[in-house]
Amino acid sequence: MKVIVIGGGIGGLTTSIALTQALPGSDIQIYERVTDLRPSGAAISELLLDGAAKQGIKIHLGKKGAEYTTSEDNKTVIVTFQDGESVTGDLLIIAEGTHSKLRNKVIGHIVARNYVGYGNYNGAVPVTSDLGDPTKWNQFYRDDLYQNFEGWAAPVWNLIKSMDPSKVARVEIHDIEKLETFFNGPAVVIGDAAHRTAPDLGQGGCQAMEDAWVLANALKTHPNDLPAALKHYDAMLVKRTVKLVGRARKRAEMIHGLDMTATNAWYTELATESGENIMEGMAKTILGARTDLDSAVAVLKAEGLM
Ligand SMILES: Cc1cc2nc3c(=O)[nH]c(=O)nc-3n(C[C@H](O)[C@H](O)[C@H](O)COP(=O)(O)OP(=O)(O)OC[C@H]3O[C@@H](n4cnc5c(N)ncnc54)[C@H](O)[C@@H]3O)c2cc1C
Repeated sequence: MKVIVIGGGIGGLTTSIALTQALPGSDIQIYERVTDLRPSGAAISELLLDGAAKQGIKIHLGKKGAEYTTSEDNKTVIVTFQDGESVTGDLLIIAEGTHSKLRNKVIGHIVARNYVGYGNYNGAVPVTSDLGDPTKWNQFYRDDLYQNFEGWAAPVWNLIKSMDPSKVARVEIHDIEKLETFFNGPAVVIGDAAHRTAPDLGQGGCQAMEDAWVLANALKTHPNDLPAALKHYDAMLVKRTVKLVGRARKRAEMIHGLDMTATNAWYTELATESGENIMEGMAKTILGARTDLDSAVAVLKAEGLM
């Protein structure tokens, strides 16, 4: 199988690595618009770039996917790049992230991005002791953090002051509209292109990796039947990720003051939190995920797809 992957972020890299394992002998190539794909600072990017290199996956840089067409029988897909070149394959994986344009053709309309109501500044600063004990930057060191942030005082300002403004990015946080399906013919969307979520549950990248695993598994389960494999992928992920986006949106509204009374109550509760509820919330995300997957598997079994 010849697989064209558009986008070399967490989703595109993980999917390519998973596919080399699930479909040995397949031709999997990534096309990435930037000319220098460097680890973004997150350890996971570095691991994935290393992993892709070890699997011998070819990453074509400076290749911005502009549009795609499919043959009438949906067995072939042709992607054209901004530079006018094109490639032909059996499967197109759209891993372009939240601003994806190619996904609009999969979905049949321009997918809406919805402002969540806040922005996020991010940057890297040297680790220094005036930001708090560097060995204790961990959410479970509750008392130290309370102490450090009391009255949003010196450490916060030290942190802000130590940032190089030219290296600080501000991201306006958006999620995307609820999609009914993630595929159309031989084209499939994954990661943020399929289900960009507010980052308040810390699940977007995790979900992109899960998408990769589910897609690779679906293709392995239905080796000569792409429509069945993509239907399988859809059944496992569409409802589940819609739920995730909804939960993250609710959490974002709670944390970022959509209704200040609710937000203040949430922070007051957090101030007396022993850590158990936080652990419970994390467990709910993981165990809830299991329940979602179990019910998707039941549907697939009932349809004879598993
Ligand atoms: C503030 C913030 C905090 C977050 N924290 C967490 C967290 O703690 N845990 C977590 O799991 N997730 C977190 N996330 C979410 C996570 O970063 C994303 O969900 C994840 O990066 C999505 O990966 P992706 O591969 O789908 O998209 P992206 O990472 O956006 O990658 C898309 C790639 O496609 C390329 N591309 C785009 N268009 C084209 C084109 N036309 N042709 C070729 N290439 C193209 C881009 O250059 C890019 O390399 C956070 C997000 C934000 C904003």
